[in-house]
Amino acid sequence: MDAMTSEDSSEDTPSLAGLFAKSQIARQLSHNTPLFTCRSAEAPIMQGLVMGGEILRQCPIECPAPVDEMLRYHVRAIAEQYGVPVILHTDHCAKNLLPWFDGLLEADERYFELHGEPLFSSHMLDLSEEPLEENIEICVKYLERMAKISCGLEMELGITGGEEDGVNNEDVNPEDLYSKPEEIYQVYEALAKIPNGFFTIAAAFGNVHGVYQPGNVVLKPKILDSAQKYIAEKIGEKEGSKPVSFVFHGGSGSDLKDIREAVDYGVIKMNIDTDTQWAYWSGIKEFESKYHDYLQTQIGNPDGPEKPNKKYYDPRACMRSAEEVTVERMEKCFEDLRCVNVLGLGPPEKPENVLGPRRGGLPA
Ligand SMILES: [Zn+2]
Repeated sequence: MDAMTSEDSSEDTPSLAGLFAKSQIARQLSHNTPLFTCRSAEAPIMQGLVMGGEILRQCPIECPAPVDEMLRYHVRAIAEQYGVPVILHTDHCAKNLLPWFDGLLEADERYFELHGEPLFSSHMLDLSEEPLEENIEICVKYLERMAKISCGLEMELGITGGEEDGVNNEDVNPEDLYSKPEEIYQVYEALAKIPNGFFTIAAAFGNVHGVYQPGNVVLKPKILDSAQKYIAEKIGEKEGSKPVSFVFHGGSGSDLKDIREAVDYGVIKMNIDTDTQWAYWSGIKEFESKYHDYLQTQIGNPDGPEKPNKKYYDPRACMRSAEEVTVERMEKCFEDLRCVNVLGLGPPEKPENVLGPRRGGLPA
């Protein structure tokens, strides 16, 4: 869990140690990309899964055993190959998905018994649509259980606008897009009491999922600052302290200024999904336009009617292109978050096994 937290957030010091790139693992075939970027940028990362992701959709809600196996062999094994620490996380879980959450926790507890750590490093509970008291009550109940196996909880407060994973909040009351310091304190007070409990709060400060026309989204990171001040005073901590670890949902399309401000006010994790989806797609789009004439038939291209096109339509070729653009987008993200070169891993030993041109493949 240490990769996720950082005390210092002054200008020069990289302050943010969490980036959440869920699209890579759950939706795309390429789950190596974020780990590669994490290694090359020496930046901390969280990989998350969503209930709507293909891997999980194949599993019955009550039975996360296949997930257990898959993740153990995928992310865990790959992370070891790259030599990078990865925080494994699950994203938004609303009240109707609690049976899924229970199944995951059972898998965590089984894994903990065997290995002394949970299968997932943390989970998110999104009960923001329920009354605040109920949201807090359920979070407390789960965090008490999770604290025993060193598993972190991310909870959501207020509403993240926009649309994602089939949840549409495009027409919510604008007021619900901004959390109040008193509400954040209520959550903090209840969760901070739990021994060994590690939690983060995804408070709403105007965030939306997705990317919209400029002007449609008004982020107010100052809300996080006011909450920190309010809570520090309530619990008797000195001025300038940041008792709450915040999460920034809907990082895609955000201004650098807002990102940096949010980090300064105690955001330790930013989610990015839409922009990495776009990056991945852009790579495929660019590949198609570059090799269009080689991608129309199995045989026959501008070099001759008998020339085979296998190496162009091999899906790994366009996926490679997709990965390259995704890596660029993620590198920018790490920079925005001031978390490049913070892991101290040194240069990777064999970077050629990931993004270099494949044997017999197209030039990068
Ligand atoms: Zn979210």
